[in-house]
Amino acid sequence: MQHFPIFLDTAGRRIVLSGGGEAALAKLRLLLKTQADLHVYTETPSPEILAWADEERLTLHRRPIAAEDFPGAALAYAAEENAGADARVAGLAKASGVPVNIVDNLDDSAFITPAIVDRDPVTVAIGTEGAAPVLARAIKRDLEARLPQRLGLLARIGKAFRPRAETLPHGRQRRDFWSDYYFAAGPRAAEHQPDMIERELESLLRRHARAEPRPGHVHFVGAGPGDPDLLTLKARRALDEADVVIHDRLVPQPILELARREAILIAVGKEGFGPSTPQPEIDDLLVEHGRAGAQVVRLKSGDPTVFGRLDEELAAIDTAGIAFTIVPGITAASAAAAQIGQSLTARGRNSEMRLLTGHDVQGFAEQDWATLARPGTVAAIYMGKRAARFLQGRLLMHGAAAETPVTIVENASRPDSRIIASRLATLAEDLADAALPGPAVLMFGLAPRAARTALVQSESLRKELA
Ligand code: SAH
Repeated sequence: MQHFPIFLDTAGRRIVLSGGGEAALAKLRLLLKTQADLHVYTETPSPEILAWADEERLTLHRRPIAAEDFPGAALAYAAEENAGADARVAGLAKASGVPVNIVDNLDDSAFITPAIVDRDPVTVAIGTEGAAPVLARAIKRDLEARLPQRLGLLARIGKAFRPRAETLPHGRQRRDFWSDYYFAAGPRAAEHQPDMIERELESLLRRHARAEPRPGHVHFVGAGPGDPDLLTLKARRALDEADVVIHDRLVPQPILELARREAILIAVGKEGFGPSTPQPEIDDLLVEHGRAGAQVVRLKSGDPTVFGRLDEELAAIDTAGIAFTIVPGITAASAAAAQIGQSLTARGRNSEMRLLTGHDVQGFAEQDWATLARPGTVAAIYMGKRAARFLQGRLLMHGAAAETPVTIVENASRPDSRIIASRLATLAEDLADAALPGPAVLMFGLAPRAARTALVQSESLRKELA
């Protein structure tokens, strides 16, 4: 983040702008939304600038900006649309220590003006460090459509009501009240009877003051394979409302950032064969926070019901009499299949599909090898990296074809994902060659669709093809 976003108090502060054409107008339209003391320097003001000066919305100086105009100014804008003239203005600003923005010259500017969605007092600023103005505009359009026009009105009324709301106990109860106002009762009132919003707030406050505090609740939430766009809407909502998020180490940072800012984040579980939190400790954490009345999100990678030791945690929560919900997520097998462009089931090939673990409590997991070895079998093998040689040996011994495709998908759905097209005969060797650090699922019986590019072919296959 080269540019750090902040909201600057400009009320009563002097802002100077040099220029009188289109570029100056574009900036002034934004600056006129503030309560700053605006000074415009130009010998050729456009009609709009003249009109604003007449209305005393800004002060017009019909001369070039000079060194003495800068000291004490909060911000300066060089909008001459002429590189030489703008460089002179920027030089003067810098000499006085005033941050300057040169229109359309990111490199020499001390700050940039973001794209803005204005629901005053709610303001959304969007910046791309100049990398993608098209993207910033698209995001702005999206937000403009999504945020109700009356959001500003609700926020202004809400702000005035804050001291009254302080009669509610701090924390969950007060948050529930505000969330009810902004997302349910408020928008309803704003749409049907905007002049009744204050009344609505009063009765909402009475209702919430009477309400019993919400009891603790544990949401077992599937975080999916890693791509934040693959979260369900329910998962998003649970993260939005969480007081405590207890997450596996496999859940990546971009997803954790979606949690409520005040939420306590606790990392548990294990990463590959690294350090791990003992299961009873995780169970205790869930019970402790649930009992304390927290909205707990137990965030598990993929789907929480697949190889996630969910039953043990459920038993602990159930015994403690704490309510829970399970929010399903996209499991690694689904994400991997999507990535290699294959269906997990296919008419005439497999009418069942298996999810296996390479490991169980005893070590390498035994399976119904004879069934798995039949032609056309498709199985997604989780936690299979270490067990690859064992799996390979058992399957070959039970008659599986050495040529059976096995596709290894590491970090499915993530930007650093890798796909290795292997086959049973060379599986262990290919995995060892690849030395994959991330989580990987082995798709037994599936080859990547030929048209998929960006595949990392296995060493042995590459040799064969050469
Ligand atoms: N509940 C998870 C599975 C947890 S077990 C789910 O439904 O996906 C952990 C194993 O899941 C890893 O060893 C790996 O085999 C697999 N896995 C999890 N995330 C993965 C990802 N993004 N890409 C590939 N495999 C993944």
